[in-house]
Amino acid sequence: MAEINRAPRGTCDVLPQDSAKWQYVESKMLETARIFGFSEIRLPVFEHTEVFTKSVGDTTDVVQKEMYTFLDKGDRSITLRPELTAGVVRSVIEHGLLSGPMPLKVCYIGGCYRYEKPQAGRLREFHQFGIECFGAKAPAADAEVIMLADNLLKTLGLKSYSLHINSIGCPECRKNYHAALKEYFRSKSGELCGTCLERLDRNPMRILDCKSPVCSEIAAGAPVVLDYLCDECREHFEGVKSHLSAAGIDFSVDPHIVRGLDYYTKTVFEFVSTSLGAQSTVCGGGRYDGLVEQMNGQPTPALGFGMGIERLLMIMDAEQAEMPPVPSPDIYFAPMGEAAALKCSGLCKALREDGFIALTDITGRGLKAQMKYADKLGAKFTVVLGDDELASNSAMLKDMESGEQHKVSLDQIGSKLIELIYTDKLTADMENLIK
Ligand code: ATP
Ligand code: MG
Repeated sequence: MAEINRAPRGTCDVLPQDSAKWQYVESKMLETARIFGFSEIRLPVFEHTEVFTKSVGDTTDVVQKEMYTFLDKGDRSITLRPELTAGVVRSVIEHGLLSGPMPLKVCYIGGCYRYEKPQAGRLREFHQFGIECFGAKAPAADAEVIMLADNLLKTLGLKSYSLHINSIGCPECRKNYHAALKEYFRSKSGELCGTCLERLDRNPMRILDCKSPVCSEIAAGAPVVLDYLCDECREHFEGVKSHLSAAGIDFSVDPHIVRGLDYYTKTVFEFVSTSLGAQSTVCGGGRYDGLVEQMNGQPTPALGFGMGIERLLMIMDAEQAEMPPVPSPDIYFAPMGEAAALKCSGLCKALREDGFIALTDITGRGLKAQMKYADKLGAKFTVVLGDDELASNSAMLKDMESGEQHKVSLDQIGSKLIELIYTDKLTADMENLIK
């Protein structure tokens, strides 16, 4: 197939029959964020490259291997965002939002770009929902951010997932920990991959997140950072655990979680689904107390998470989570002749103003083809309008499911539809409730 007929590798089109799922999931995301006090922020898809090299870290896989970076026509180095946290931090500093009321709570939905090897649940363009909370250093903030993710997954009907948490400490704890890691990995340096060998001196913790099977096996036996936490970080972690327990959120401590981005400090966490094989991490996040200062802002504690929307939808599919049905037309008007077509157009206009999905013919084709189309779209009701109907100002409203016909005045179609669609549904719902 020619390139022009094929989407770039690792990208997906969301087709009309699937977009209702995206709209549903995104509306639940924004709604959940709203009830926790987070407001949406919308950012550019590209940033100056330094925004990511300075934050995500230049020894991470994301920066070393996965970024879409190019020079624009003005010779600036530009990068398509591989994640949104760095851009959020850039923006809240730029617009002085950190001098407003604290904590500042924002959320986002947007595309991310990473040059990865495409496979199920791993794309080159994917989408994340995420939240960021600035100016709260207490363990209650970590618990709240985790609770939001948990609330959302439950709202969306997910059942088979688990929460894994860890603390990777602060720069203070890292001093001793890095020394211990270097010693351990040096003893295995003959077996590490080339990238990890380079990381050994500069950032040994990155080796813990290497995806190569040999490195991961070596990493599994490495010292764990939990054993090196300073008093403050240990106390903070205990606080997070108490808050989660008090809120009835199940979790397990997994000392091997380090996350793929350099900016994390203290708490890190992942929500992992058991409904998928590989690529089962649906949400990852943590605290990044040093990042705002690192990006030239006032020192500000902060934390958040990113949730992969494609992976979430895959899990919802696998678990057959309930999704709203694709909306079908409430009514289709089939005109016969020019005068009827004008009338149908006017009837549609009035019904649309009342919020009905009302359609009519815009092709000029015959009645049979029109009815076939209405049937394919799953129209709930149809009305055929010809000269007789125009003369009597009334028509037959046909219920496409039951085949029942109702004679109705053309001025009364809206109220008849309300009666038939909503009153019947309400009666059925009430009867179910009583049962
Ligand atoms: P992984 O370990 O799977 O590579 P990550 O640690 O790189 O994930 P983050 O940068 O923390 O992931 O992004 C948060 C979430 O975004 C992930 O948990 C996942 O759901 C989603 N995600 C990350 N990379 C991809 C991708 N290439 N394709 C689809 N979703 C992704
Ligand atoms: Mg990754």
